[in-house]
Amino acid sequence: MSAIWHPFTQHGLGEPIPHVVRAEGALLFTADGRRIVDGISSWWVTTHGHCHPRISAAIADQAARLDQIIFAGWTHGPAEEVAAGLAAIMPAELTRVFFSDSGSTAVEVALKMALGFWRNRGEPRHRILVLEHGYHGDTIGAMSVGARGVFNRAYEPLLFDVATIPFPAGGAEQATMDALERECRAGAAAFIVEPLILGAGGMLTYAPETLARMRAVCAQHGVLFIADEVMTGWGRTGTLLGAEQAGIVPDILCLSKGLTGGAVPLAVTMATEAIWDAHLSRDRADMFFHSSSYTANPVACAAAAANLAIWRDEPVLDRVAALAGAQAEALAAPSGHPAVSATRILGTVAALDLVSDAPGYLSDLGPALRAHFLDAGLLLRPLGNTVYVMPPYCIGAEDLAAIWSAIGDAANRIADRSFSGARG
Ligand SMILES: *Cc1c(COP(=O)(O)O)cnc(C)c1O
Repeated sequence: MSAIWHPFTQHGLGEPIPHVVRAEGALLFTADGRRIVDGISSWWVTTHGHCHPRISAAIADQAARLDQIIFAGWTHGPAEEVAAGLAAIMPAELTRVFFSDSGSTAVEVALKMALGFWRNRGEPRHRILVLEHGYHGDTIGAMSVGARGVFNRAYEPLLFDVATIPFPAGGAEQATMDALERECRAGAAAFIVEPLILGAGGMLTYAPETLARMRAVCAQHGVLFIADEVMTGWGRTGTLLGAEQAGIVPDILCLSKGLTGGAVPLAVTMATEAIWDAHLSRDRADMFFHSSSYTANPVACAAAAANLAIWRDEPVLDRVAALAGAQAEALAAPSGHPAVSATRILGTVAALDLVSDAPGYLSDLGPALRAHFLDAGLLLRPLGNTVYVMPPYCIGAEDLAAIWSAIGDAANRIADRSFSGARG
């Protein structure tokens, strides 16, 4: 009997908790000898594949030389290498790099930078605009700027107020633009968005032109534009950043997940020179007040530097394009299925909604589907009745086919009502 309290897990349901002992590429191997295909990149982090030799070697090498060093007023090679590597491939306007440990902290840092910017300029704007159905992490600030719902009902009394801009669903973009214009006019510190696809909100996609229009409205009103590319970064959407497809550059950019190729935790918040300048003075009270014990941990930075080297030396975007093509082809099959109500694809991320009496995250379909996929040797974790496939870029054709075949089986079982939690 384990003492471990797992995240996003209802232990009262007694669902099995597989014990993984080894991973390689898109594969996981369990203590009881099973081979499992990782269809969700271990919660959206693994890009090049598990235990990529260059990343694993960089971690081992760095761990033997410098494990950890305070980062307030000190620096080290791997952090400098990551900063230089990011400068080489990220938008030139994002001149400054602040390190933290997770996507949630990258978002907290972004929000604090935005408020610090306005305070130090003597114009204390503090209202944050957010996009409906958004997700930005599970700390209090990150939850505050994310969608309210069952995930955070117990904590709601502590969450700060935000203004929510309606999601720009296809055909409803003008309502989004009107609301954004109105809220920007009323005065706001920043607008935080997931570019092109809202992950935890159900893999909801919107048009690059809409992202470009939203960015333009913010620029017009001086509202800082925060792009949370924690999930969309590092090739997921078909390009290095989702923002690229809209031809925009945010004022603040959050990156994590694939920053180390998904091997170890690390995050960065990148900012423009204007945001840096607002914190620059001879007055210590104007400095940026944020730190965590492991800020820019050298071992994590060595993994990120290896990831950046892989992006430099290897045809990563070709692999992304190949996977995106295979995903689009695979998604065509379930598209007309009677148990499938909608499909969506963006780059390497493909999603479909299964017909359900009780859609939403707590749909009973979720646990039933997880068990079905595990039986088929697959790690998939539907968001309620939304099944998505987001594998590492190295996944083999047969393994990808196995995922889509199991999804097809699930749809069939829902259509013939032999699935618990399904309609009927
Ligand atoms: C996962 C995610 C986060 C939170 O990242 P953690 O590392 O889990 O804290 C924030 N924003 C987006 C868009 C994410 O997908």
